[in-house]
Amino acid sequence: MQNAILRKSHLNDFISKLAAMEKVMAPVAKDPTHFAFEEVKSAKEISLRYIPTILPPKKYFMPQHETLLEYDTREGQKMRAVAEVEKIVLFGVHTCDLAGVQCLNIVFSDRPKDLNYLIRKNKIAIIGIECNEYCDEHASCALMGNHIPKGGYDMFFTDLGDYFFIHVNTQLGEELLDKTGVYEEATIEHMNALEDLRNKKKEIFKNEVDVDKNMIPELFKKGFDSPVWDDLGERCISCGNCTNVCPTCYCFDVYDDPDLGAKTGKRIRVWDSCQNEPFAKVAGGESFRSQRKDRKRHRFNRKFRYPVERYGKFFCTGCGRCTRVCMAKINLKDTIKSLAKEYK
Ligand code: SF4
Ligand code: SF4
Repeated sequence: MQNAILRKSHLNDFISKLAAMEKVMAPVAKDPTHFAFEEVKSAKEISLRYIPTILPPKKYFMPQHETLLEYDTREGQKMRAVAEVEKIVLFGVHTCDLAGVQCLNIVFSDRPKDLNYLIRKNKIAIIGIECNEYCDEHASCALMGNHIPKGGYDMFFTDLGDYFFIHVNTQLGEELLDKTGVYEEATIEHMNALEDLRNKKKEIFKNEVDVDKNMIPELFKKGFDSPVWDDLGERCISCGNCTNVCPTCYCFDVYDDPDLGAKTGKRIRVWDSCQNEPFAKVAGGESFRSQRKDRKRHRFNRKFRYPVERYGKFFCTGCGRCTRVCMAKINLKDTIKSLAKEYK
């Protein structure tokens, strides 16, 4: 089965049956404008219309703090690799966040493969949900082409009034849906309703910055020495919020945490940020990006130019999180527009 529908009156059944079998994480309102993925037991706890969660689903794929190995040197050099893995179902993932997970999958499957990430990823089932309209004014998902689903999920829900249209994408998705047993087969009328919605979305979701997406890498190349970076460097306070909340930022630091006596201990991985000054420091004390403007430029190039050259893919999903959390009010769309004004 590829397509099904779920009556909204059965959503609670669906979630509670799923939660009885697996740990289910879904968007929950923290206050009217802030949402977070948290464990839920019923549909009543879930916010289906939500502005992207404070942290993206990357927190499940790449925990902020993770033990990589444990060591014991009391009798020789004993080391044990550790993979902290939890089996979960992620429900209600927006298409921009599906795109974010797809970026992480590419990076961590690149050489050298990151086994901890890959083992964990295989334990996470993803159920996406479509945005029928914009979450808020900071989104640029249409520019990045992430306002419509492009895979990366086991099941995908689209709200079509009194029911959800479900696209079943994987065997795991089919198994989960079958186990809940509260769906109906989709008919041609349901398919037509989905098509109508997607057509309507073409009128709602338009390129938000009026710059040809294909020209963006070139724009960043030409704008390498732009005064735009001086301005951002003046304003940025290097708090690292933008990289923490970014669904595709994956940089990390690794350190050893020895017990007292230094005979046993753990090797830990934690999130790091290119916005932190010591990030690009090398032995001898030299820092390749000691200026804030260099670090800002680097972050933008790591979204719009370098990954396009390496993976043929933008590493911005258009979710708008970096703009929402920036204390200096640095706005991603405005930055692209400013560069375009100078170099288009
Ligand atoms: S969130 Fe804003 S102020 Fe903080 S590092 Fe990012 S751009 Fe700079
Ligand atoms: S950025 Fe686009 S896809 Fe993401 S939540 Fe907002 S409207 Fe939905």
